[in-house]
Amino acid sequence: QPAIRKISEKHDKVFVTGCQEPDTSKPRANAAFVVLARNKELDGVIESIKSIERHFNRWYHYPYVFLNDGDFNQTFIDTVKNYTSGTVEFGKVGPDMWGYPDWVDPKVAKEGINKQGDNAIMYGGMESYHFMCRFYSGFFFHHPLLAKYEWYWRLEPEIKYFCDITYDPFLQMIENNKTYGFTIAVKELRETVPNIFRYASAYKRLHNLTSKGLWEMFVEPQPDKGPEPPQDDPLKPKEIDPDAMEGESYNMCHFWSNFEIARLDFFRSKAYTDFFRMMDRSGGFWMERWGDAPIHSLAAGALLATRDIHYFRDFGYRHTTIQHCPANAPGLQLPRQPFLELTTPDPRKRAEEDAYWEAFDPPRENGVGCRCR
Ligand code: GDP
Ligand code: MN
Repeated sequence: QPAIRKISEKHDKVFVTGCQEPDTSKPRANAAFVVLARNKELDGVIESIKSIERHFNRWYHYPYVFLNDGDFNQTFIDTVKNYTSGTVEFGKVGPDMWGYPDWVDPKVAKEGINKQGDNAIMYGGMESYHFMCRFYSGFFFHHPLLAKYEWYWRLEPEIKYFCDITYDPFLQMIENNKTYGFTIAVKELRETVPNIFRYASAYKRLHNLTSKGLWEMFVEPQPDKGPEPPQDDPLKPKEIDPDAMEGESYNMCHFWSNFEIARLDFFRSKAYTDFFRMMDRSGGFWMERWGDAPIHSLAAGALLATRDIHYFRDFGYRHTTIQHCPANAPGLQLPRQPFLELTTPDPRKRAEEDAYWEAFDPPRENGVGCRCR
């Protein structure tokens, strides 16, 4: 993962090493958890709330904002309130932020989506998934319930934190002048974003943006072609490879956006708005299945510097089959290496890992502990 190393070593350090008595004497940041969900996901939502409360929010009590394109039912609202230690607001996402915009012909878009379904592109045939990706790419930060906040921490159903977070990451982001934080970076499925990089690249070129160091994280290194072969006629024009885009192509790397801690101002900026608009107008949210993760990542690549990004390498985090285990992260002086995003389906290996963490960092008397489980 040379891309991650780029962030981890020179420009960014772990905020706090080890567990400490959570310091709750300082005022909270102007921040909230943001959860987009449907009523039928209640069980997964509660699983996530239990985990974030157990490992962080029982000390800090940050508020939650729940959003839905439909209406939350009373069971959902009551159950969520039962498990949260911060205030909770529930909001609806209107048609201005969800569904087809008026400049899109829904028939054409639907055909595009159906075709992706026929081609077995993951979630490609699912209209609502396209709506969700576009909402998280271009709109959530404009939702009226988020207007009063400067920072957000994204939560999803069925996520798990397995280390106690005994400091306030928002305050650390502020103190260290960070804009965007992630904990896992993975490769996107190429067939979901065949043209995304062409547009992101064009945006960068059209706005005369020069890389502040982060862009290279998303660029596939070109194979070294060696010295140019001698040409018979030095005046003969060199051949141009029509597939080469400015000599750059996408390496599919992106920050996995189901976890994000970021400054809302970044997404509300004119630069990001222009970026989203250009990407949106290309039709890629319909004719391809662009996720909000590569959209956020490429925008960051075009607009931010490496030092603006924070890698939460100390957060143990899991969603579905992918997890990040701090024991494997660079920059943390712990035994075990190298850095790996683990997919650990083998229960025996998982048990081994759990035992390792039990021995390495047992829960303390005050209930604070850091364990991979
Ligand atoms: P995955 O993590 O990529 O498999 O996608 P998810 O199905 O988990 O969706 C990402 C997030 O968007 C989750 O928080 C979902 O609850 C939410 N989500 C996805 N589709 C919809 C939808 O149609 N309506 C609402 N309200 N939430 C959605
Ligand atoms: Mn999910």
